[in-house]
This record gives sequence, C-alpha cells and structure tokens, in this order.
Amino acid sequence: AKKEGRNRYCWFVKAMEDEARIRREMEVAIRGGLDRGEFSPHYEQQIDLETGQLVGFEMLARWESAELGTVSPEIFIPVAESCGLIGPLSEMLIRRALSDAQSWDPSLSLSVNISPIQLRDPWFPQKLLKMLMASQFPAHRLDVEISESCLQENLVAVQAMIVSLKNLGVRVSLDDFGTGFSSLTQLRSLPFDRVKIDRSFVGELRKVAEAAHGSDAEREQQDHIVSTLVSLGQNLHIPVTAEGVEDESILATLRQMGEMKGQGYLYGRPEDAAAVLKRLGELNML
Ligand code: C2E
Ligand code: CA
Ligand code: CA
Ligand code: CA
Repeated sequence: AKKEGRNRYCWFVKAMEDEARIRREMEVAIRGGLDRGEFSPHYEQQIDLETGQLVGFEMLARWESAELGTVSPEIFIPVAESCGLIGPLSEMLIRRALSDAQSWDPSLSLSVNISPIQLRDPWFPQKLLKMLMASQFPAHRLDVEISESCLQENLVAVQAMIVSLKNLGVRVSLDDFGTGFSSLTQLRSLPFDRVKIDRSFVGELRKVAEAAHGSDAEREQQDHIVSTLVSLGQNLHIPVTAEGVEDESILATLRQMGEMKGQGYLYGRPEDAAAVLKRLGELNML
C-alpha cells in the first residue's frame, strides 16, 4: 500500500511537471504566433430571431499555428491570460476587428470578448477609447462581452469598470449568463445592456425536442432553465441573446419565449473577414 501511494505521488508530480512544461511550450508558441501573424479575428453572425435579419457579428479569436495546427481559443486564451499575453493579443484582434467592421453596413454591431484580466486593468477603457478613435468606428456599435464568472471577483471594481466602459458610449453585455452565480440583486445593480444565455443551456433545447423517449419531466426541466433565464432578462428589461442556436427546433422553441437575438451554427460557423465581406455584399450590406 505504501509503495502504491508513492507511485501515485510520483505520477502526480510527473503530471504537474508535464502540465507546466506544456504551458511553457504553449507560451513560447503564442509569442511566436503573435510575431508571425498566426492569430486572426473570425466573425459569428448575430440574428434577430423574430425577423431573421442579420444584426451584427461577434468576433472570436482563431489561431492557425505553424507548429500546432488549429488551436481552440478555449486552450490558448487561458494560457495567454496566465502569461500576460492576453492584453497584447486581444488588443491586436480588437484593432483588426474595428478596422474590418469599418466597411460593414452601419446597422451592424460588433461584439468583442474581454478577459477578466483586462477587466482588472484600470487603463483598459482608455486603451479601448484610443482604438475606437484610431479606427473611427462608432462606439455605440461596439458591444463588450463580460463573462458572468467575472462577477465572482471584486464586484465594486467590476461595477466601476462597467460604468467607465459605458461612459465611452459602448454597450456592455453579460456573457455566459446562467453559468455563474450572479443573483438577481447583483444583476439589477449592474448596468448591463444585454444578457447572453450560454449555449450549454440552449443546446439542451434540441434534446428536449428530440428526446421522444425522455420523460416529460426531464424535457420540461431543460425547457425551464432557458425560459427562466429569458424571463429573468425580460423582467429586468434587459434584452436577451441566445447562443448555440444549432437547428430549427431550437429556433422554434426560442421564438415562443419572446423577442430575442440569437447566434449559432444554424446561421453558419464563424468566418474570416473576407468571407464576411462576401456575405455582406450578397446581402447588400456594405
Ligand atoms: P463564447 O464567447 O461563449 O463564444 C461562443 C463559442 O461558441 C464560440 O466558440 C463559437 O464558435 C461557439 N459556437 C457558436 N455557435 C455555436 C453552436 O451553434 N453550437 C456550438 N456547439 N458552438 C457554437 P470558440 O470560438 O471556440 O470560442 C470559445 C470561447 O473562447 C468563447 O466563448 C470565449 O469565451 C473565448 N474567446 C474567443 N475569442 C476570444 C477573445 O478574443 N478574447 C477572449 N477574452 N476570449 C475569447
Ligand atoms: Ca462571447
Ligand atoms: Ca458566450
Ligand atoms: Ca461560453
């Protein structure tokens, strides 16, 4: 038993060393990737679910690494956050997105994701203002998405940050709504312009429709989480976006819940700036 414990300990130490090494290698790769221009902004369509109209795009970071191939932002964003590269990476992407969005129809908005690390930087609003001025992109068309997980930190500081961002004229959305633990009281005290219901909940709506063999109770429960989040937004008079609209059955269920925006694979995968231009040309939105 003693030997087994020791083996387990060694395995644990080795796993920790492996992880640290992988992180260091990834950090070096990110620096190299930044120098070589391997990161680019991609764009996901945002749709008014009632009219089917395209209303904007969310910028999502993409990395085509020479060494590692395509790396998911779910992997490289946390590494960039932990090694101090999220600021430079994100600012480069936002600059490019603001410049890409210059030629879009003025009815279209641009959403960008902001890391909790950037949210802690007291200079962030100033940096964003500089980027907006350099690009001449109207602040009111920019939407800054803040993850609900940020609200677990210093709430007073987050509140102050949201206010300074709003003073720039940009809109601020609560991302991943439903995955954190923000209370109704917190939500009411923070001036969010929009809540985005996480796709983990929205995706369940399809199972609701498909699961012919699932129990009624099970189906109702999934339905219930999304409709609870939607009515929470509605009761606070905060507009709602549903993420992860993957098919017609999800769309139909969401449309019954009231007015909202949506995004997801039903409308297409995130695409690069050139593909967006082509799409907008076809829609007469350039
Ligand atoms: P998110 O902000 O919640 O972005 C939505 C994610 O869901 C995107 O994944 C998108 O490609 C994916 N998605 C969209 N529609 C569907 C759908 O119908 N079904 C499914 N299954 N997935 C869908 P992606 O691009 O891999 O991004 C993952 C996360 O990485 C984002 O989640 C965001 O938190 C983070 N991220 C991406 N770009 C940036 C960035 O520039 N800065 C920061 N701080 N975070 C970023
Ligand atoms: Ca987002
Ligand atoms: Ca989200
Ligand atoms: Ca998410």
